[in-house]
Amino acid sequence: MPLVIGLTGGIGSGKSRAGALFEALGATLVDADLESHRLTAPGGAAMPSIEAAFGPEVVTAEGALDRPRMRSIVYGDPSARTRLEAILHPLIRAACDRQVLAATGTYVILMIPLLVEGGEPHARAHRVLVIDCSEATQVARVVGRDRLSEETARRIIAAQASRAQRLAVADDIIDNEGTEVALTHQVEALHRRYARLAARPWPWPPRPGTARD
Ligand code: ADP
Repeated sequence: MPLVIGLTGGIGSGKSRAGALFEALGATLVDADLESHRLTAPGGAAMPSIEAAFGPEVVTAEGALDRPRMRSIVYGDPSARTRLEAILHPLIRAACDRQVLAATGTYVILMIPLLVEGGEPHARAHRVLVIDCSEATQVARVVGRDRLSEETARRIIAAQASRAQRLAVADDIIDNEGTEVALTHQVEALHRRYARLAARPWPWPPRPGTARD
């Protein structure tokens, strides 16, 4: 099985940028967020269970998940969030696993924003790569990208794992406080390392606690 690198980091840390750079170098990119959107698009595999659990009011006329409506339901109701995650997470995981098994790249970059929050990251990837930057930089980038208010950006960051929690489980770290050129150089250096490691077979699913390099 291919080497699978779990790429994670807080919102606005630069995961998508880094993922695209690895893909351009020959890695297969598997994006958990993209799978989640596919599952909740019109006709998506999660939609029947979501409609059964939350009713037709969370489904748009086209048959997709009504995201703003669902967000407002789970915002003040942790049990609703748990029910939604119980439907979505196993489906996202299965969809990602299918893509890992079909991967043709030198190795796999498995991009999971909440890899650390989900627990046991080394059961999902052979190595954990954390993309790291300061909270001030995250806020500036998210406000620039999504037109969110600074307050909303800070609230999202506060609900995610802390930098220290992420760094504690990292095998590799990209410091994305600097320029895009600096980011590219770090990705290229890691790519050379991963391409070397990818030459040997890796067990699937990954076994936490076994050798990672
Ligand atoms: P994530 O996927 O972790 O939420 P993105 O990769 O979308 O983050 O990056 C957030 C925003 O910051 C994007 O608009 C991206 O183009 C920009 N960005 C990422 N890295 C850098 C960098 N090193 N310098 C300047 N802008 C960056």
